[in-house]
Amino acid sequence: MSRPDQRTDDQLRPISFLPGIAPHAQGSVLVSFGNTRVICAAMIEEAVPRWMQRQNVKGGWLTAEYSMLPYSTLDRKQRDISRGKADGRSIEIQRLIGRALRAAVDLDALGPRTLWVDCDVLQADGGTRTASITGACLAAALAFQNLIENKVLNASPLRQWVAAVSTGVVDGRPMLDLAYTEDRDASVDFNLVMTDDLQFIELQGSGEEATFSPDEMNAMLELGRKGITELTALQKQALAEATPPPPAADLDSLASHFNRS
Ligand code: UDP
Repeated sequence: MSRPDQRTDDQLRPISFLPGIAPHAQGSVLVSFGNTRVICAAMIEEAVPRWMQRQNVKGGWLTAEYSMLPYSTLDRKQRDISRGKADGRSIEIQRLIGRALRAAVDLDALGPRTLWVDCDVLQADGGTRTASITGACLAAALAFQNLIENKVLNASPLRQWVAAVSTGVVDGRPMLDLAYTEDRDASVDFNLVMTDDLQFIELQGSGEEATFSPDEMNAMLELGRKGITELTALQKQALAEATPPPPAADLDSLASHFNRS
């Protein structure tokens, strides 16, 4: 049986990056993995958390927040602030994004400042955490480029590119980059966070009321490696194309972006 969008099992959804989506942030991008779209923005605060000052920890800090906008899902998702409590899933995902980026960024080289990375899901169709991490790393790279241009930093604290992709087993077949309907039907859900030289940062794999074999896991790792290689190449290309920094996203470029995928 073919996939809903006719992709091969080892094929990513159409991936795109639209830099400059949030002009007040030092770095921002609208990342699309097919119909999953996330706004990722990186902002610098010229301060570090109090616990770092108290413990005399040198260097900077990086922290991430993740949320799904109310209209990102088919049924409206209430904002946490209206519900009166934080969503456990969002907290888990934002901690994952923070860990992923701290592996990418040299916090000493960042200096005594905090990089805030916000990921807000505009449209959810599976893999919002993997799109968030991939977009957040590019947003951070764009922010660093901005700081270099403004002579705040001499060199980019980005040590390596980090991207993430989902894999899974659907109807007994290992597949790359699951969309929502595939994710829903998957017996195994396996997310990989990796660097551009294919080192692992974090693996999140679980059988959904099922088990999986070592062979299936190896097949998912292989798919993941292929996906990460393609995603990090696209991140690098997007950064290179965004030099000098892009003008603020205008309505025409937004429209062509949405028509493209
Ligand atoms: N989803 C949703 N509402 C929610 C949580 C998830 O509609 O409150 C959908 C959404 O399309 C999401 C998918 O379920 O992308 C899979 O969610 P999961 O928790 O596996 O995270 P993700 O795959 O987005 O990283």
